[in-house]
Amino acid sequence: MSQQPTTETPKIAIIGGGPGGLTLARILHINGIASTVFERDEHALARPQGGSLDMHADTGMRALRLAGLEDAFRNVARYEDQDGKVCSPDGKLLFSDSDPDGERPEIDRTQLRQLFLDALPGGTVRWGQKVEAVRPLADGRYAVFANGGDGGEAGEPFDLVVGADGAWSRVRPLVSDAVPCYEGVIFCELGIDDADAQHPALAALVGHGKMFAKGRSRTLVGQRSSNAHIRVYAALRAPESALKLDTADPDRTRQEIAGHFADFAPVLRALITEAKLLAIRPMYALPVGHRWANRPGVTLIGDAAHLMSPFGGEGANTAMADGADLAMALADGNDWRQAVADYEAIMFPRAEEAADGAAEGLRGGVSEDAPDHILEHVAAARERAHPGNRVDDGASA
Ligand SMILES: Cc1cc2nc3c(=O)[nH]c(=O)nc-3n(C[C@H](O)[C@H](O)[C@H](O)COP(=O)(O)OP(=O)(O)OC[C@H]3O[C@@H](n4cnc5c(N)ncnc54)[C@H](O)[C@@H]3O)c2cc1C
Repeated sequence: MSQQPTTETPKIAIIGGGPGGLTLARILHINGIASTVFERDEHALARPQGGSLDMHADTGMRALRLAGLEDAFRNVARYEDQDGKVCSPDGKLLFSDSDPDGERPEIDRTQLRQLFLDALPGGTVRWGQKVEAVRPLADGRYAVFANGGDGGEAGEPFDLVVGADGAWSRVRPLVSDAVPCYEGVIFCELGIDDADAQHPALAALVGHGKMFAKGRSRTLVGQRSSNAHIRVYAALRAPESALKLDTADPDRTRQEIAGHFADFAPVLRALITEAKLLAIRPMYALPVGHRWANRPGVTLIGDAAHLMSPFGGEGANTAMADGADLAMALADGNDWRQAVADYEAIMFPRAEEAADGAAEGLRGGVSEDAPDHILEHVAAARERAHPGNRVDDGASA
């Protein structure tokens, strides 16, 4: 299809109000471009958004700067929670460092979402709008159907529809046949509230940041969030059907998870036995290097474009970078169709590199090997950021 250059402003629908979609909406807004965000959640606090995220300089932090939200971010971010530890399954501390001047400040997901929501004009986000389908119209626009409205009736037309709707995107099939595949690892997500007062030993174990303990095909991660909450990820390499949440008796599932970590030291296993089970998440990913031929009027950002394992800590960061790059390209005032193609050209290689790292991180991070992989990974990252890290060998966690 040949494109005529135009300076018209497109009518934009963003499907999904996660980190990617809200970054896009906010940066468009401060550049004078309106958008509509369709979000299936009934309201901002309809469901817990998950644990803490660290923001990376070139992606998440840059997006916050372009969104004019750096100061608001600093008010809630936790610069003091960037420490890292690696333990062996028997509780021996293999590596530890403290990094209060690090460049990866932490923020809870709920707080991050709220920063963006507070900075958008009322009505930008349409809550409780689950998009069922997006269909091309004869005039080149796309109709968005929400909440069961995917029959014959007219959906709302938009010039540009951006799929920011995560792993199981309803927009992605318009540009790509790719579907996420199971990566062989189940993440069990648990939470411990008020850890400093109620569970001081676990608070000390996790410290002010993240603690990894890697066994054979099983890895435990403890991560401090705000308000002394500890988020625990118990990851195991297993068939997807190996573990299911017993909704009638989640305690039984939690005991089953603890059983998978029976050879871990009691202090580590307590991260499971003293926690509340929050979710069982089989890890899915899109193929590394997923891309598509540009289709005028539709694009994807974030997980919808490049779902990857959380082991690289890049998913939310790259989603925000995508939102920022697409918004900046559209704000340039040139042909908006070309702007979308320009954004995709920037995003594809960045996503491929991040997804490659995340896949490698998951392969090594939850594997048959001894903890060397995680140890090397954490130590190398810290050494790059701050030469002269301390390695404690032989101490107890
Ligand atoms: C256990 C775990 C830990 C992680 N840790 C990190 C980390 O430390 N650092 C990091 O950078 N990333 C991390 N990630 C990855 C990160 O969560 C995602 O990459 C990120 O949230 C993607 O943002 P997004 O905006 O693309 O999509 P999402 O966050 O998935 O947001 C999509 C939004 O779209 C809405 N939606 C979905 N479908 C529809 C529909 N049909 N209609 C309307 N709305 C819809 C959803 O309700 C949601 O609000 C982690 C992921 C997991 C699972």
